[in-house]
Amino acid sequence: MTKKIRDFPLWINHKKRYEKKLEFFSVTLLTSSKKGRTMRHTKVAIIGAGAVGSTTAYALILKGIAAEIMLIDIDEKRCTGEILDLSDALPFSESSKVLKGTIADARTADIIIICAGVAQKPDQSRLDLTKTNKKIVTSIIKDLQPIGKNTIVMIVTNPVDVMTFFALKESGLPENQLFGTGTFLDTQRVRGLLSKKLNIAEQSIHAYVLGEHGDSQFPAWSSAEIAGTPITDLEKLDKKQLDKIAQETKNKAYEIIKCKGATYFGIAACVSALCENILFDQKRIAPVSTFNKDFGVCLSMPAVIGANGAEKIIKTSLNQEETKQLELSAKKIKETIEIT
Ligand code: NAD
Repeated sequence: MTKKIRDFPLWINHKKRYEKKLEFFSVTLLTSSKKGRTMRHTKVAIIGAGAVGSTTAYALILKGIAAEIMLIDIDEKRCTGEILDLSDALPFSESSKVLKGTIADARTADIIIICAGVAQKPDQSRLDLTKTNKKIVTSIIKDLQPIGKNTIVMIVTNPVDVMTFFALKESGLPENQLFGTGTFLDTQRVRGLLSKKLNIAEQSIHAYVLGEHGDSQFPAWSSAEIAGTPITDLEKLDKKQLDKIAQETKNKAYEIIKCKGATYFGIAACVSALCENILFDQKRIAPVSTFNKDFGVCLSMPAVIGANGAEKIIKTSLNQEETKQLELSAKKIKETIEIT
């Protein structure tokens, strides 16, 4: 984020000492080991310290990208337990604090992550969760007012596209400042499956899952490529194979929930990566759920993620079939919004 480093000359004098971690006039200066960039005390607030929230806190601690991580939950006992447990990981991190906060404390955070709500049960559609989670998310957004003008709000609670829509409406924030994790997780899943099939690293595979983070999602195969070669041109991947991969991607959450009751490692890694994009103003592309003017709903399209949140939406070119799939996703999300 564009933040000033306080007492910069002093920082230069003591650069070596500051390279690991420094507590100075209650301001922690962090040095990113990756890029040598610096920033002042950064604070990430996580509302909902359940499986997703606490695992996200753990991922953030291991990444060491935020000085302070704050957990907030109506279940005080669980929240205390998670904080005590997470604090044991601090000695291995650049982060200096993990603490319990209130909604009022969260208002001034650099990033507010909302993952409070009810989790998906086996065989339950994400859309079934809507009514309960809408009440939870909108009441949190109401209590968060006024949200800092530089604070980025990230919605994780499912169904994430619908929750993002209601949260945006309730908050009155600019569209870039509040977004949902959308199909970022599904995109990692599709790249993982392609990676296994092709024996090429996920990071070198440019393929996006778009639309709803749910049953109407679709991989945009027509624009998927590896080193400039369209995925649809690869011999190993005929239409049947691609359909199978799309289906497996879509069903992975159901599969995980059937086996262990919840999904949290993958989404926590996604959320912490998005936090890194924001805190380091990286301008990386991620498909996240943002307000789409053409459809009047929130859904996922690739966006540039930086200090100002979802800064720019990239209009990926879609073929006729994919355009129809996107319209179907928007229709499904709209129907859910209308009946909630
Ligand atoms: P969980 O039940 O383990 O945790 C939810 C937590 O929210 C609980 O600790 C609960 O006490 C808390 N909570 C409820 N109401 C609250 C309120 N008003 N204020 C503060 N805290 C409150 O559930 P989980 O597995 O952590 O999942 C959380 C949400 O994330 C669910 O909606 C789930 O479907 C969703 N999720 C989204 C993705 C994604 O890709 N977007 C992936 C996995 C899970």
